[in-house]
Amino acid sequence: MQNKIKDYIHSHKDEMLADLSALVEIPSVKGKPADGAPFGVEPKRALDKMLEICDGMGFKTSCCMDVVGSADYAPDNAEVALGILCHMDVVPCEPENWATDPYKVTEKDGILYGRGVIDDKGPAVAALYAMKCVKDLDIPLKKGVRFIFGTDEENGSGDMEIYMKHEKLPPNVFTPDGSFPVINVEKGMMRSFIGGKYEGGAVKCFRGGSIPNAVPDKAYAQVAAALSDVQAAIDADKSGAVFTAEENNGIVCINAGGKSAHASTPESGINAVTALISLLNKLPNEGKQADMLKGLEKIFPCGETDASSVGLNAADKTGATTLVFSIFNMENGECSGVVDVRFPTCLDLKTVEDKERAALAMAGCTLDKFMGDEPHCVDEDSEFVQALLRVYERIEGEKGKCIAIGGGTYVHHVEGGVAFGVERGDTDYHMHGADEFITVEELLRDAVIFANAIVEICG
Ligand SMILES: [Zn+2]
Repeated sequence: MQNKIKDYIHSHKDEMLADLSALVEIPSVKGKPADGAPFGVEPKRALDKMLEICDGMGFKTSCCMDVVGSADYAPDNAEVALGILCHMDVVPCEPENWATDPYKVTEKDGILYGRGVIDDKGPAVAALYAMKCVKDLDIPLKKGVRFIFGTDEENGSGDMEIYMKHEKLPPNVFTPDGSFPVINVEKGMMRSFIGGKYEGGAVKCFRGGSIPNAVPDKAYAQVAAALSDVQAAIDADKSGAVFTAEENNGIVCINAGGKSAHASTPESGINAVTALISLLNKLPNEGKQADMLKGLEKIFPCGETDASSVGLNAADKTGATTLVFSIFNMENGECSGVVDVRFPTCLDLKTVEDKERAALAMAGCTLDKFMGDEPHCVDEDSEFVQALLRVYERIEGEKGKCIAIGGGTYVHHVEGGVAFGVERGDTDYHMHGADEFITVEELLRDAVIFANAIVEICG
């Protein structure tokens, strides 16, 4: 049967590429809400296109509130046991940075380029053809499968919030919008917005970071200081950041350059904000501003990424806490900033909030508001996860294992949901960047894996 599935998928390559092309041609970036299109007309157009493709294959389709579509294959009205969750929306792109037209699938040497080919239109087409393959080959199923496609994954999954209010998800759901083998743990996340007030101080202004979920690679400050003192502090600095300083009328402008990294892996970056704060604290300063900067250095020391100075360092089999002080601005007696914390299942949102609030108070700052998610964890020994791992091992020929990540996937709020594919190993598929790609061979192999998963779970 495995060979029949493989042959079927390979002999339908042209149709798969044609459907993928039709979807990629729709620039389904989130837009202004319109009539019958809550996330914009283009995501809705992609949703309609996918519904049309599914209808054409003879699947029973439905559309929930113009935001999520679905197609069922459930012989003899069997109960649906498996959901495969994909999304039709894409992130914006800068066409000038692409070697090809991002809204056309271009094939070069077995590689497909185009916005959405890996995230998530390619995997969606692979999942759809997996379902069609099981249907056309008449492989007996005891349970049904539902292919589900949303339109707001890239901007907070508001589509799933609506869907879950109206529809019940199948008991087993995977999303091919992550990595193989299986992602069963997604750490908790808290993004906090901090503030504070001070008077006076030698630092006239501070600006650092612009992306809430990244290690900031740039920071800038103006300080009333002697250039020689600043130079001495720079010479003694061991943060790894690169500083430049120049003086203008008694004010020294300092630029700090660090190294950017995603907030879920901050240890690979160099934080320009905490490096510059540490540098400023070596210069003469006094009063409330000096206390605040010293306090911030105490709770967010340069080079520390495990939150130990906030009392949140913890680790279990789901990973370890990470913390990034990602944005900090200070001017005219007020400061504001953003802190991103990712935490394992041994901590919860309330603990993270309480400890961070207490730490900030010691620095004379406040936690003004935050967004947060509890960790998401699915039992590695569950029958569902084990079935996916078995399939992965059979097709890929290598040991399947569960992985924990610091980011959140489309199933973060789906009980029992895991990510299954489609990124492999350390390959950089330029997801969200220019020249996003997937190989033809991988796209076909993904479809083979998904067809086998359907049979394994529903057969
Ligand atoms: Zn995605």
